[in-house]
Amino acid sequence: MAQQNKENQTLKLTLVVTRQCNFDCRYCLQKHEDAVMPEEMGKKAIDDLAGSVLFRSEKLKKASPGETPKVRGQISFYGGEPLLQRPLIEKLVKYAKAKFAEIENSRLVFEITTNGTLLDEAFVSFAKENRIILALSHDGLSQDLVRLDRGGHPTKALVDKKLDMLLQTFPDTIIMMTVHPDHVDKVAESLEFFRGKGVRAVSMVLAHGERVLWTDEKFEALSLEMEKVEKLYEAWNLGDSIFRFIPFENKIRNYIRGKDADSAPCHFGCHKLMVDTDGKYYPCSHFIRLEGFSVGSIDEGLDDSRLESLESQRIEPKDCAECALSSRCHHTCACANHGHTGSMSEVSALQCEYEKLLIRLSDQAASFLMQSESPRFIERMYRN
Ligand code: SF4
Ligand code: SF4
Repeated sequence: MAQQNKENQTLKLTLVVTRQCNFDCRYCLQKHEDAVMPEEMGKKAIDDLAGSVLFRSEKLKKASPGETPKVRGQISFYGGEPLLQRPLIEKLVKYAKAKFAEIENSRLVFEITTNGTLLDEAFVSFAKENRIILALSHDGLSQDLVRLDRGGHPTKALVDKKLDMLLQTFPDTIIMMTVHPDHVDKVAESLEFFRGKGVRAVSMVLAHGERVLWTDEKFEALSLEMEKVEKLYEAWNLGDSIFRFIPFENKIRNYIRGKDADSAPCHFGCHKLMVDTDGKYYPCSHFIRLEGFSVGSIDEGLDDSRLESLESQRIEPKDCAECALSSRCHHTCACANHGHTGSMSEVSALQCEYEKLLIRLSDQAASFLMQSESPRFIERMYRN
C-alpha cells in the first residue's frame, strides 16, 4: 500500500449539477433537459466522498505506520453548463470545505469546465478564494461554426471577452478545444489565436459520436495540420517561452517518467464516480444515462456486481497487446472506445491512427527541444 501512486490517493467525484445547457454544440453528446441536482443529494455525495477519503487515509496509515498519508478528494462540477447552477455550486463548495476540514491531512480540490458565457468577476474571485480550477471550453477559430448558443447565435465574441477576464486572474487557464472533422484546417491557426491572447495551455480532443463523421480525407487533413502544430509547439517552447499543448505533453512526460498513464485503464467506481442529477452513479461522463452503465445510486450505494461485470468487458484487443506503442497509447480508455465504436474494448481506426500520430509528433518535438536544451520545457517534463 505504501507504494500506491498519487493517482490512487486521489478520489474523484463528479457532480452533474444540471443537464441543461445554453449552448447547442454540433458535436454535443448530451440530451439537455430541465433537471437539476437537489442540494441535499449533492451534500450526501460529498459526505460519501469524505467518508471514502477518511477510510483510505486510515488504511494507508495502518499500512505505513509513522508516515502521514495525504489522500486527496477532487470534486468536479459538470453539466450541461454547470454555471447555470452557480448558487448550488457555491453552496456545495462551502459544504465540502467544511466537511474536509474535519479530516486530518486531507486535501480537497475543485474543478469546473465551463463554456464561459456565465463567468463574471465575482465568480472568478470565488474560484480563486476556493481554489477552484476553471477550464474553458473554446474551439478557437471554429467556435462560431460549431458552438452556437441555443438560439443559433455565434458565441465567440462573448467567450473571447470572458477568456481575457479569466486570464487576468488565472494566467494558466487551460483551454479545452474540440476538433470537428469539418474544421481540421483551423487547428494551428486556433492555437496561434490562443497564444496571441496569452493562453499558455491547450488541451484538445477529437469530436466523436453519431453526429460527427470522420473520413480518411479528413484524417489526412488533420495529420497535415498536426505537423504544423508540432512546429509551432517547438518554436513556442524554446528558451524561456512556454506553451503547453497537453496532448503532446502527456505523451512526452509519461515516456520520460516511465509512467504508463496513457495505457493504464481507470478503474470504474474505485477512484472516481459520477453522480447524475437523479442520484444514479456512472463510471464516467461518457456513460451517463446510457442503458446498462449505471453502477448504483446515492440511495443504494455502489453496485459491486455491476462494476465487476463492466470491468470484465474491458479486454485489451489482440492487436494492441502486441503493439510496440501499447504502453504509450490511450487504447484502454473505455469511454473513448465506446464513443467511437460502441464497444469499451474496441479501438476505432481513427483513434489508433490518431494515437500513432500524437506519439510520433510528440517524440519529434521532445527530441528537438531536448537537443535545443530548452530550460523551461526540460524543467516541466522532469518536475514532479
Ligand atoms: S457546451 Fe458542452 S454541454 Fe453544452 S452543448 Fe456544448 S458540448 Fe454540450
Ligand atoms: S497504436 Fe493502435 S494498435 Fe497500437 S496500442 Fe494504440 S490503438 Fe492499439
